[in-house]
Amino acid sequence: MRYISTRGDAPDLGFEDAMLTGLARDGGLYVPETVPTMSAGDIAALAGLPYEEVAFRVMRPFVSDTFTDEEFADIIAKAYAGFNHDARAPLVQLGANHFLLELFHGPTLAFKDFAMQLIGQLFQVALSRRGEKVTIVGATSGDTGSAAIEAFKGLDAVDVFILFPHGRVSDVQRRQMTTPTEANVHALAMDGDFDDCQARLKDMFNDFEFRDAVKLAGVNSINWARVLAQVVYYFTSAVALGAPHRKVSFTVPTGNFGDIFAGYIAKKMGLPIDQLVIATNQNDILHRTMETGAYTKAGVTPSISPSMDIQVSSNFERVLFDAYGRDGKVVADQMADLSNGGFKISQGAMEFLRETFDSGRASEDETMAQIKTSFARTGEVLCPHSAVGVKVAEDHLGDSPMITLATAHPAKFPAAVKDACGQDAPLPPRMSGLFDRDERMTRVANDLGALEALIRERTGR
Ligand SMILES: *Cc1c(COP(=O)(O)O)cnc(C)c1O
Repeated sequence: MRYISTRGDAPDLGFEDAMLTGLARDGGLYVPETVPTMSAGDIAALAGLPYEEVAFRVMRPFVSDTFTDEEFADIIAKAYAGFNHDARAPLVQLGANHFLLELFHGPTLAFKDFAMQLIGQLFQVALSRRGEKVTIVGATSGDTGSAAIEAFKGLDAVDVFILFPHGRVSDVQRRQMTTPTEANVHALAMDGDFDDCQARLKDMFNDFEFRDAVKLAGVNSINWARVLAQVVYYFTSAVALGAPHRKVSFTVPTGNFGDIFAGYIAKKMGLPIDQLVIATNQNDILHRTMETGAYTKAGVTPSISPSMDIQVSSNFERVLFDAYGRDGKVVADQMADLSNGGFKISQGAMEFLRETFDSGRASEDETMAQIKTSFARTGEVLCPHSAVGVKVAEDHLGDSPMITLATAHPAKFPAAVKDACGQDAPLPPRMSGLFDRDERMTRVANDLGALEALIRERTGR
């Protein structure tokens, strides 16, 4: 299996190199050259299997010969052993034809653990085989950072630096990043918003001298291996509700477009998905794009669902690549226009996008109201991101069962949850010491030179 860049001007790579690299050298993102398919019979055979076994069967063709079957099965087993629910991704029923896919039973209580725990194991095996050490730098709106730190802390082969927007993550999110004591963990509180953090990260990747000197590796959802790990729960949940014999729909609370892009890959692999609904909060660039055909940046307005406070949705580039018939030159031109505020999508590409996705947005008031109503009607306490999803899903209910992805545990956002429904959202017992531990973080300016100097000093490279 080969991976090619969405901008058409970087060498194609195998799975291991695409995973260890993250961003392509032409600034594009790696996607599989062809997407392997599963037959209806292959999908039907997944019914009733443990999560790990489904993960193996779904991901195996993408990994090809990077790992032996035995190695890969072992990696998957280790990745999900720390989850707090035997089903890993359990389904809960919200209404007659509406289900919630709880993706928050991992070690840091957000769906990011599904991918990050797997990547941690994949990196560990690949790097120890190569005898190499890499520097992981990640940008986070809150959940990616803690998931990455949890997955990589204490590993010899990596130093991990996480850039988060100072003052714009929740206390639980911040503490999950600042309280680990391992020496290879560096939490960096940067002046600016998440888009600034992501922009500096991309700048580091585009500074080849720095990139090569520190052996930079990226684990943001630009990393293909992360998207791949997230494809699995679309299969487990759809099969539990009757696929491939009936179609199912999904609504996905969306920021960087990684999670929903995984759903798109599942569909391309042959999973019978009816609607794939993009749900945004008030930072609704993706919903506006679907409505107007123009991808136009506006400022970010902080919301109660901070992990979706974004204007530059990186993985959208991957679906644009398909929408433009895999013409990397067109994608590169559009992305160049993005630095001037935005771009207009061609009519043909918009038709492709509208055939593939539906979309909706939830305002702050609607999100709060949804937390309250869901609690009253079902007893389910939703985090604000999941509530955005449930609200938008309810506007899109049809004949197929609707599965809304619950992306984080309510305990990560206790203030918003308490405001909305009067309910406390306590941390699970295994995390109860979080507020007693000392915090360790470095304040940094929104300045590429200063960031690179700090990383070089800390890694001695
Ligand atoms: C990261 C995150 C999202 C957005 O996911 P994308 O893959 O960036 O679209 C939504 N909700 C929560 C809780 C998250 O952590």
